[in-house]
Amino acid sequence: MEQTLSIIKPDAVAKNVVGQILARFENAGLRIAATKKIQLSRTDAEAFYAVHAERPFFGELVEFMISGPVVVTVLEGENAMAKNRELMGATSPKEAAAGTIRADFAESIDANAVHGSDSLENAAVEINFFFAQREIV
Ligand code: GDP
Repeated sequence: MEQTLSIIKPDAVAKNVVGQILARFENAGLRIAATKKIQLSRTDAEAFYAVHAERPFFGELVEFMISGPVVVTVLEGENAMAKNRELMGATSPKEAAAGTIRADFAESIDANAVHGSDSLENAAVEINFFFAQREIV
């Protein structure tokens, strides 16, 4: 069984589609092992996206991620990491396949509704960033 981290970003939380997005995970056979709604601090967002620190959009990305609450979730299931990436769609909603979360709920390449871990190694680090072991059940 794999575990991966999902973040429902501030744009999708503000649109009140948290339940619809979580339902997509469940309908695809993924199980919610942990979930919580939190407001990221600037320090949190900068640390979480440290890998992108040198990218030109880093400042915008951090501002966006702290613009409102997010919902962080540990998804569990067979091929959970790849399955979540498939459900999310491409980074830019313009390129995201029809029926994906980003095609249906995202507005732009930065306000793109969801984050998902892009490797099992990163998933473990990202899950550990947000959750204590006793919260994952
Ligand atoms: P992901 O794995 O599909 O989320 O994409 P990346 O790891 O490449 O990028 C991380 C996040 O940075 C994306 O989800 C976007 O929110 C943001 N991002 C990526 N490219 C751009 C860009 O060109 N401009 C802005 N403003 N944000 C971007």
